[in-house]
Amino acid sequence: NNRISEHILSNLSEVGIKNHLVKRINMREQLVKLVDIIPIEFIVRNIATGSLTKRLGIEEGTVLERPLIEYCLKDDKLGDPIISREHILTFNWLNVMQLDWIDENLSRLNDFLLGMFRGVGIKLVDFKVEFGFTHESEKNQIILADEISPDTCRLWDTLTDKKLDKDRFRKDLGDLIPAYTEVAKRLGILHEQSNVSAVNVTQLSSVKRKKK
Ligand code: UDP
Repeated sequence: NNRISEHILSNLSEVGIKNHLVKRINMREQLVKLVDIIPIEFIVRNIATGSLTKRLGIEEGTVLERPLIEYCLKDDKLGDPIISREHILTFNWLNVMQLDWIDENLSRLNDFLLGMFRGVGIKLVDFKVEFGFTHESEKNQIILADEISPDTCRLWDTLTDKKLDKDRFRKDLGDLIPAYTEVAKRLGILHEQSNVSAVNVTQLSSVKRKKK
């Protein structure tokens, strides 16, 4: 995840989508810019699945005519409820200009990620990102402040629809690490013979118990 996210965020910087990554430090850590995180999860969907199908009864796998942006309040106690644009403006979580700016950037980000994954035989079904205010300038600039990885995106193989993301864990499908490794290999950031052997299986199963 660390390497995939580093790869994506540095590519985003090159196309002018500002984000928090300074550098990857090692296999587990990244140095990132300090932000005041905006308490909203921004979800972009290209294909219906997950909570969208459950909430609205939309048929699983429906290709959306245009990308759908959803907002969720970041509050674990409340279960990250979905909110509308009007909630964001009414409670001053963002002003109109800031929200419009984020929506435009989400659209650019989605186009970039769709193309990048499509080029390596992967459908970008949906993803979640967060943004924050930097302390770098007087202007209180907003930047993308999140990882982008198979933990935060739904990624399906273009030909087989095989899930190459966290749904393997959520739905107990197994083969999580081979799937994530496959994504990394297709993005050209792991060599074919690379072996992700440093993973401690005990650690993994304790994570699984704690966080579903
Ligand atoms: N997502 C995430 N963190 C969250 C909730 C969702 O990264 O706390 C991602 C999830 O991996 C998927 C997208 O956001 O790519 C949409 O998730 P959805 O609303 O369908 O939620 P779920 O089905 O996981 O409840």
